[in-house]
Amino acid sequence: MLYFAYFLLNIFIFFFGVIIGSFLNVIIYRVPKEIPFWQGRSYCVSCGKTIKPYDLIPIISFFILRGRCRNCNNKFSRRYPLVEIITGLIALVLYWNFGISVVSFIYFTVSAILVAISFIDFDTMTIPNGLIITLVIPAMAAVFFVEQTEILSRVIGFLAISLPMFLLTFLIPDCFGGGDIKLIAVCGFILGWQNILLAAFIALILGGTYGVILILKNKNNRKIHIAFGQYICIGVFVAMLYGNIIIDSYLKIFNL
Ligand SMILES: [Zn+2]
Repeated sequence: MLYFAYFLLNIFIFFFGVIIGSFLNVIIYRVPKEIPFWQGRSYCVSCGKTIKPYDLIPIISFFILRGRCRNCNNKFSRRYPLVEIITGLIALVLYWNFGISVVSFIYFTVSAILVAISFIDFDTMTIPNGLIITLVIPAMAAVFFVEQTEILSRVIGFLAISLPMFLLTFLIPDCFGGGDIKLIAVCGFILGWQNILLAAFIALILGGTYGVILILKNKNNRKIHIAFGQYICIGVFVAMLYGNIIIDSYLKIFNL
């Protein structure tokens, strides 16, 4: 019986994440187009018809309708259930690591904003200022509720990667977008300096690998530009969850 209750709780937390994910879909679609996300109901992007409430159940509706609009039969993007499932899994992983706690809630808020930033950066190569400013709210909350990271470590974290990135733009113009720099500054404040170094290292490996693959493929001679924001987001998420474990075992291996 206890296992069943635990199972139900997991399902509940997953669907909590999924519902937030369906809200993130609205933000990802509307914010770059400067459509207010609080205005009006969800509509089909092909025919413009408002989607009925019973067709708006996250994931489930997508499979019932086989990913098509009830009105015009055009395919919905697979992006929608993908974002919902990712956000559901994030909620679950945070619950497994931090339980139902204030820390969990703060990290989930951070992660949800990072999901929106990742997809918008992927689509448009820009990170909306509004989302970075929103990220400041859980960053401030972390000061009071995530006590193992000291305020000094946060302040150093704020500058540790962002300042070198900023200075690098004078040497190599356009190597980083302003959005990337602001994003990693706020994330540095959330994580503290050790973990933002780890996050940047992960981002560099992922983004660098993708960059090398792009250069090797070299389909067109157009100057290659990578949306770096999504790799920063992945790095920050990994560091937020496992940063302390990774850093501790690294230090142990080298007897530091
Ligand atoms: Zn339609």
